[in-house]
Parts: sequence; structure tokens; C-alpha cells
Amino acid sequence: MEKLTKPVFAKDGSEEVFRRIKQRVYALVRELEPERRLEITLKAILFPLLYVTAYCTALAYGRDKSVYYTAYCIMGIMLVIIFLNLIHEAVHNTLFKRKWLNELYIYFFDLMGANSYIWKIRHTRLHHNYPNVMGWDSDIEQSPLARVFPHGKFSRVHRYQHIYLPLLYPFFLLNWLLVRDFKDYFNKKKVVWKVVRIPRIEYVKLFLFKLLFLFYIIVLPKLVLPITWLEALTAFCIMIFTASIIALLVLISPHANTENEFPLPDADNRMEKSWFLHQLYNTNDVKEDNWFTRFFMGCFNYHIAHHLFPNVHHVFYPEVTRIIQEEAASHNLPYRIYPLLTTLKNHYKLLKQNRMPENIFEETM
Ligand SMILES: [Zn+2]
Repeated sequence: MEKLTKPVFAKDGSEEVFRRIKQRVYALVRELEPERRLEITLKAILFPLLYVTAYCTALAYGRDKSVYYTAYCIMGIMLVIIFLNLIHEAVHNTLFKRKWLNELYIYFFDLMGANSYIWKIRHTRLHHNYPNVMGWDSDIEQSPLARVFPHGKFSRVHRYQHIYLPLLYPFFLLNWLLVRDFKDYFNKKKVVWKVVRIPRIEYVKLFLFKLLFLFYIIVLPKLVLPITWLEALTAFCIMIFTASIIALLVLISPHANTENEFPLPDADNRMEKSWFLHQLYNTNDVKEDNWFTRFFMGCFNYHIAHHLFPNVHHVFYPEVTRIIQEEAASHNLPYRIYPLLTTLKNHYKLLKQNRMPENIFEETM
């Protein structure tokens, strides 16, 4: 493991405001918990059931190609819904009260093709602790083809990233499942190695679950249905493309746009702001809010609440956000919210902005 000092956040007096918000939020959650528990449990059972039903439908009625492809498209949609509502909560230990139950539930992610062990580290220990900090936020750090951080390593190909990246986005999950997970395990220069040494057993699980996933998603339908390999692969691609596009709308909008900062630690590894203010300046909420975003999309639009309270389940975020808004207004702190379309336009702007090195001298230094 590389010996590196983690960035340290400043103490700037804003901690007092955060303490007050925390008190109000935890009191509110205690009050609402009994009536919301049913919704939390209902989702935990319903959504995986829909995924399995879609898969069984594909196997049972897939002779009709339109049924087969539609079922895989639905599985792609369910993959994202399960990820947002259930896996994401389970890695934060908020899906169930018992920790072991959360840890067990996370294996659904492996069954759907992603490695849960590495994502939990990427997400909870890196992205949540250091959002938008280059070299530490591994959720933002994606393929070397994308230069999302303004201070990121520049190569000539980035000049065209605003053109080719949107075209590559449908392959986002294909890269995640079949390339990125393996890179994190085998390339010790990857960010995850700054905080963990991967145990051997995880390598075994990585291969076993990936093989199991590819077997049931591609090979088994080929064995039981009168379809060609090309058709089996097409269905797999339909699932991945659908999931990639929906997942990216949600993942890009709260962080990776021009309205957010991408601060770097100084030479002594100190961050300019406190952890609390860092979240307010590097995360934004999304305006779209309705029954669909709350029930199916895991309240992704309330992302500031999630960053300040990752240990609180998303069913409480509408009320938690009201508290954050009130306290931010009365203490002159930012609370930023944009329409989804604006965040996507600003993401495109960010890609365009970062297609050139900020300072031409930095490139050669
Ligand atoms: Zn999270």
C-alpha cells in the first residue's frame, strides 16, 4: 500500500452549524422512522423480485424476440433502480438496522455484475470523504479517456473528449463491469490502494461472481432458447446501454458540472474548507422531484442531504433537505439546486472546458 497522507479538512467554525443541523435531523429521523420502515422494506423485496421476474420472463417466453429484448431492457432499468434504492443504502448500512443483513444484501450487486467489495471502498471511503478531490474521489475518476478534473493529467486525445465521451457513455457500465473492477484489483496504482489492501478471498469472489453473471445473462439464455450468440449478446448490450444511460443521468448531475468546485489539498495536504462546507460547495441538488424520483430513483435529487447524512436512509431526505435549506439560509451558506437539464448542460461545458490544459506550462512540468 502506498504511504500517503490523507487530505485534512480545515476547522473554520462552520462545524457549529453542522452540529445544529445534525441534532435536528436525527430528532426528525427518530420521529419518522416507524412509519417509513414499511416503504424501506417493501422496496428491498419488490425491486429484486421485478428483476428476477423480468429474467424468468426472458427465459420462459424469449422465443418471441420482442419479449426477450424487452425483458433485458427492463432488467437494465431494474439494475439502476436496485442500485440506487437498495445497494447504495446497503453499503451505507441504512437499508436494514442489522449490519450483517446489509452486508449480505450487497451481494445482489455482485449478482448483477458489479463487484460490491471494491465499489463500497470507492464510494464510502473515497467518494464520500473527498468528493471532487482529484486523486481521492474514485467515483469521479473514471477512464483515462475522460478528463473531468480541471487539474487532471492531459493528453492530446482529451481535445476531443466533448465529442467522443457522450458517444461512449452508453458503454459506461460495460467498462465498469468488465474493465474497471479488474483494474482496481490488479493495478496497485489505482486510488483504492491508498486506503485498502485487497484480501485474497475477494479476488476469488471477483472471478466467481463475474463468471456467474456472464453465465446467466448470456450463456444460459443461449442454451435454453432458440437464439444465436449474436442475439444473446444483443440482449446483454440492450440491458447495459439502458442501465448506463439512466445511471449516468443520476451520477453526473450532482457533482461533475461547472457549478461545482474541484479543490485540491495544499502542499501539506490541507483542504481549504471544513468537511461540511466542502460538501456544500461540491455537491448540488437537482430540481426534479416527484413520486417517481422518490420511490424509484432513490431520492437522487436530494444529494446534499445524502452527502451530509450518508448514514440516513433516502426516504427521509425531503424533510432533511428542508432543515439544511433553513439552516443554510439563516447562516448565509450556499444551498445549490439546478434543473436536471442544466446540470447536464454544465457537465458538457465541463468536458469542453477541460479538453485543454488550464495552463500550457503545467502540461510539461
Ligand atoms: Zn453514497
